Amino acid sequence: MGIGTELLMGELTDTNSAWIASRLPALGIELQWVSIIGDDLPRLTEAFKRGMERSDIIFTTGGLGPTQDDLTREAIAAAFGETPTIQQEVVDGLERYFAARGTPMPSHNIKQANLIPSAKFVPNPNGTAPGWWAERGGKIIICMPGPPAENRSMWEEQVEPQLAELIEDEVTITRNIKTMGMSEGAVDEIVSEFFGIENPYLGIYSKADGIHLRIIARAKDTETAQSMIIPVEQAIHDRLGEYVWGYDDETPETAAGKSLIEKGLTLAVMEMCTGGALTNNITNVPDSLTYFKGGTVAYDSAALTAYGVPADVMEKHGVVSQQTANAMAETARQTLNANIGVAVTGVPGPGEFEGKPLGLAYISVTNGKQTREMEMRLPPRRVTIKRRVPNQALIELRRLVEEIG
Ligand code: AMP
Ligand code: MG
Repeated sequence: MGIGTELLMGELTDTNSAWIASRLPALGIELQWVSIIGDDLPRLTEAFKRGMERSDIIFTTGGLGPTQDDLTREAIAAAFGETPTIQQEVVDGLERYFAARGTPMPSHNIKQANLIPSAKFVPNPNGTAPGWWAERGGKIIICMPGPPAENRSMWEEQVEPQLAELIEDEVTITRNIKTMGMSEGAVDEIVSEFFGIENPYLGIYSKADGIHLRIIARAKDTETAQSMIIPVEQAIHDRLGEYVWGYDDETPETAAGKSLIEKGLTLAVMEMCTGGALTNNITNVPDSLTYFKGGTVAYDSAALTAYGVPADVMEKHGVVSQQTANAMAETARQTLNANIGVAVTGVPGPGEFEGKPLGLAYISVTNGKQTREMEMRLPPRRVTIKRRVPNQALIELRRLVEEIG
């Protein structure tokens, strides 16, 4: 449950619920409803009553602040029919919190020390609002503060460990297999026999870095859950192996970086249509300093020429061409004395460029002997092009590094 009128006004996106949702499969908790409720006592109370009828656990974020519009505690008290009382030890803690910052506690913060008999506090080391863990009739309500930094640390340090204890008789294991190069429909068809089974469950997701297949298995212990995942994973591998580029939390840049480190190779980049997005992604990886030599951004043929790309190639084939991409990759590689050069060139819009259509892009990855080439035809949206071309280039990079052995 995301609580706050600003969420209903479209001023704030409920990223807290999405984050909590992402943590639940590993605990074996199936999420069935996500609600957004404004700062309104009757509606909040109704939401808690209805939530307890249809769910075993309710998570909330927001509405635990000191101001009058923060009503999460009051609504639970009303839904439970209980009267909150001030807990002196929490008042003392709040006073110490403010004293440490050199100011007296504002009187409104007192309400954060309220508790009902069916609830206990969840400590919040990063802010003034303690969480609430309330239980009644076998149902649990867990309330966390709105600020993401506060609810994430509360989740990791308090909520998740306590939940894991409650549901320790079941483990959930997930395996995320990431492919690129085949359409969602084609992937769906190839592994269709595994869909529609509850356990192990197979989900398919289309992302900016390709089609992901996620296997989720639930069992009484880790080995049993693993043994349920293995045959599905094996079948996916047998049929889609050449398209698989990564697993679980891997991104195109971490997967490419891992391969480069394994082979002890270095990298140079030249990019046109992506405006630095490729270099940005590469340098998001903490280890990138060990293999990344540098990247240049050039937005027209004069700039590309200044960076050493042969002008005759661009004159003959155009800036947006496979030949120019290849020349850019080789120029970057040689200029920076790297083992591998990667280049992207394309038409980012607003309209066509040198007679080439918006969304056309070329990728080249070379080690001077072998080259991987690719033409992409993307939707005519700048942000999509800037997101997808770097991903594809990094996946091609990884493929070349694996190929050259
Ligand atoms: P509150 O606890 O309701 O006073 O919320 C405090 C702050 O937390 C808000 O001003 C937002 O910056 C942030 N916040 C609250 N709810 C959410 C949410 N569902 N998703 C992301 N940020 C949130
Ligand atoms: Mg609020």
